[in-house]
This record gives sequence, C-alpha cells and structure tokens, in this order.
Amino acid sequence: MKEDFPVFLWKYQYFSKNQLTTTHHEQVNIFNPGIQNHDAGPDFSQAKIKIDGINWFGHVEVHVKSSHWKQHKHQTDPAYNRVILHVVWEDDMAVYRNDGSLIPTLELKNRVDFDLYRKYKYLTQNLETIPCNHVIGKVDAIIICSMLDKTVIGRLERKAGDIIRLIDNKLTWQEATYRLLAQNFGFKTNKEAFLRLSENLPLKLLLKHRNNIFQVEALLFGVAGFLNDPLKDEYFRRLKNEYQFLAHKYYLKGKELNKVEWKFLRMRPGNFPTIRIAQFAQFFHRNKNLFAVFKEVNSCQFLIDNLSVSQSAYWHNHYSFGKFCRSSIPGLGKESIYNIIINTVVPLKVAYGRIKEDRSQIDHAVRLLEKLPPETNKVTKLWKNLDVKIESAFDSQGLIELFDNFCLGNKCLNCNIGISIVKTT
Ligand code: SF4
Repeated sequence: MKEDFPVFLWKYQYFSKNQLTTTHHEQVNIFNPGIQNHDAGPDFSQAKIKIDGINWFGHVEVHVKSSHWKQHKHQTDPAYNRVILHVVWEDDMAVYRNDGSLIPTLELKNRVDFDLYRKYKYLTQNLETIPCNHVIGKVDAIIICSMLDKTVIGRLERKAGDIIRLIDNKLTWQEATYRLLAQNFGFKTNKEAFLRLSENLPLKLLLKHRNNIFQVEALLFGVAGFLNDPLKDEYFRRLKNEYQFLAHKYYLKGKELNKVEWKFLRMRPGNFPTIRIAQFAQFFHRNKNLFAVFKEVNSCQFLIDNLSVSQSAYWHNHYSFGKFCRSSIPGLGKESIYNIIINTVVPLKVAYGRIKEDRSQIDHAVRLLEKLPPETNKVTKLWKNLDVKIESAFDSQGLIELFDNFCLGNKCLNCNIGISIVKTT
C-alpha cells in the first residue's frame, strides 16, 4: 500500500466514525479534516478535531504505518510540532513530537469498507496501460468531463509556464514564438534540432531578409548544416553561395548544426526536415510578426488559412537537395496546422494572458481547442478503444495529459475518475 490510500481516506473521510477513538482510547470527533498540503510539511493543515474532550486546531500527518514517523525523521523536525493527530493505516509503534509528548494516533485499517480497499488495489496494482479500462465505461460522463477540465488547465499552465520562463529570461514575445514554432515544426523526431536551429539563427536576421524567400531559405538551410556537401544541383549551389555570403556578413560560421542531427529515418518524405524547413521559411516570408498574428487572431478558420503555407517551387518536387521526384509534394497539411495551433498558438495566448492578466486571451485559447478536431495518436486511440468520447482537441489534450500524468503512474486516487470508481461501493 502507498500513502495515497490513507491520505485519500482521511481527505474524504471514508472510514467508520462509530466509537472513534485513538489507539490510546481517547474519544475523537472530527469537525474539519483540514486542507491537503502538496508541498513539504505535514499532509493536512487547519484541521479541527476534539480529542478526549479538548478542541485542537492544527496539522494532521498521515502514514501507512506509524513507524514511518520515525523513518521520515519527523521527531526532529519542528514543522511537525503542531501535528494534533497522526492518522495511520496500521499502528505499529507509539510516536512522539520533538518535545517528548505522545502524538494521538488514529488507526484506520479496521474502519474501512473492504470493497473500497479492493477497488483501490485493483486500480493501483493493475498493470494494464489504462488501469481503469474495465470500469471506466460505468463512470458518469460529468465526472470524466470534470477531470478533463482539470487536466487541460494543468497542461496549459505547464506549457504557458515554459513560455513565461523564456520571457523572464529576456526573450521578446516574437523570439519566444520563433523558438516554439521551430520546435513545433520538428514535431517529435526533429524537435531538438529545430530548437537548436532557432537558437543559433537570430530571428532578427530572418526578419531582415524576410521579403526574399531565397535568402530566408539560405539562412535556415545553411545554419541547419545542409549546405556543406559538394552537390552539383543548381538550386543547392546557388543557395550555398548565398549562405556563404550571409554567413560571412553576420558571423554565422561555427553556428551551423551538424547534418547528422536531423533525422529522416522511418519518416514519410512529406515530413522530412528539409521539407519542414522550407515550409518554416515560408512562415517568415509571409508574416512579419507571427506573435501579433497569434495573439490578435481568435478565429480558428482565419488561423488555419494563415498557417496554410506551401514550400517554394524547388521543394514541390524535391524531398532532399538534388533528389528529384515526379509527384508533387504537398504543402503543410491540415493535421500539422492543427498541431501548430494546439502546441504553439494556444500556449502563447495562455502565457500572454497570464503575464498581462488578460483573461480574454485564455478564454480564446480554450475556445480554439474546443473548435479544433481531436488529435489522432497512440494515446487517443487507447481512449477511443474504451469508448471515451473525444469530440475536440480540448478532449484529446485533456486525455493525453490524463494518460501521461495520472494513468501511467497509477495515480488513480488523484483522479476524479479513480475516486468515483473507488467510492462507488
Ligand atoms: S488515473 Fe484515472 S483515468 Fe487513469 S487509470 Fe486511473 S482512474 Fe483511470
């Protein structure tokens, strides 16, 4: 058993209060179990409890066994001096505060419905990918929705927090957008390489040459490390010459990535980093201030239209430099555009809303997620197989977060769905 179970029992008071006494037979009346503390220190604070006729106000500490008090060295920590009750699953030794006074202890193991314990064990020891897979179908849709609200908010806050840290580190909103967008263009496989590209190639250079797509491509492909080979291809040769000129002018030598940092393996040619870089170049060619576009535009369709870019002519029939292909290579697809809105536009709006205390940006961000179709990936397929409704990107984002941060770690007692399953006896 992990500590989350007795914490859960105490938090929701799921135990029999019939003739409730401490292990030393003092009568206990609980007026308020307290507020759960997720940081260091006792598990609950501001609890109100009457013990042996005396009213107490203070902390409650919870353990699986009372001996864990000593194991965790609470007897030497003054933060635990105000613990008024020690709640344990099993009492295996008396414990004392650092002033030598005995701490009243409440043992829960004989006060809990066995069915509750059986369900807890089922959820937390089940090795299936989604531990509640056999029972989630019986959970009320409102409970699933409430959990998704919680996970989407958590996900947005985390992503916005990453952006806020960039802004705190003196990046402008434009530069932060550039970094984020670059990572987004790399998708999972080339995320790191794209990020390095955006770190090594200053945005101001791209913007300075943005009216000339050839120069934008020369800068991006050059710093990406693609222009070092001795290829005979005419377009390659011209781009290389242009880059050498620009690299000399702007001291870019030594900033180039190594070509091997880019991954092509097991990738559809349309997703090759060369094609993605060419599409990325178009973004800067078309938009002077991408952040302003992302911040000011709230219409989903307008954003989709704005993000629908097609690479320059050479990349319509080349997947790599010098490799001609007969079929025409399409521009940025719908799925990729949705991905950029979900992972770049939405977090930027939330971060901006947080910093500027502009609630409307956050509301628009959430509305964008609600309007976009759900993502299709390994995780959303798992949920689909369990008949969980996924109607928008809001749902898919919430379910991805739920899976990554709750289901994978069997944190079912921190999940509204898990709590409802355990509670239903
Ligand atoms: S964390 Fe929630 S959704 Fe995930 S398996 Fe546990 S109960 Fe189910």
